[in-house]
Amino acid sequence: MDNVDASPEKIDFFVYNIMEWGKKNKRHFVWRERNDEFFVVFISEFFLRKTKSETVDSFLRNVFLKKYRTFCDIAHENVENLKGFLRPLGLHNQRGIALKEIATVLCKKGELPSYEEILELPHCGRYIANAVECFFRKRKRAIVDHNIERVFNRFFSVPKAVEIHKAEYLWNFADKILPSEDFMSYNYYLLDFSALVCRPRKPQCVSCPLSEKCDFYLKKQSPGR
Ligand code: SF4
Repeated sequence: MDNVDASPEKIDFFVYNIMEWGKKNKRHFVWRERNDEFFVVFISEFFLRKTKSETVDSFLRNVFLKKYRTFCDIAHENVENLKGFLRPLGLHNQRGIALKEIATVLCKKGELPSYEEILELPHCGRYIANAVECFFRKRKRAIVDHNIERVFNRFFSVPKAVEIHKAEYLWNFADKILPSEDFMSYNYYLLDFSALVCRPRKPQCVSCPLSEKCDFYLKKQSPGR
């Protein structure tokens, strides 16, 4: 982390511009509209790990949430039916088995799981636990996925991790810069920004509000820096 410039000034600049950009450009998804429903938030985060937001949104709105409303609905479903139902989303075999396992645990529990209990669920992990804690319980928690890691890497030169969920330095960094107020919007906007502006290929640097202090952009402008 020696090359990381995380001065208070640079962090303030980053957070301010993410918030301003997000207010004008935020995306609308079913899990944001219904973020007071644990089932909707959890299921969305589970699907979002490997599939684009727009695809998951359409599948949830038009198909999945019309059939399943609780974890017990899924727990009592035949696993082959569940796999078939998930086919349009992709990875249906793997997802069908995993979702049935998770739903069985949560249905049996009969009440909302704690943060620690979500971490212990099969096929879940830190990202889902933190996302549920922030978006559903409205508690201050940072989230880091590959897209957010890319923004941190480009803007602050935070090194890329081999395995994000195990990279303590990355989660500590995300915690350090997470604003105390409106952290939920900030997390939503950061996800939006990483998908629409600081994209994996062809980042929109020329129109990016962060470019004047972005390490990646400044290096590209003067390669000898
Ligand atoms: S200037 Fe380019 S690389 Fe830097 S944050 Fe913006 S889009 Fe990403």
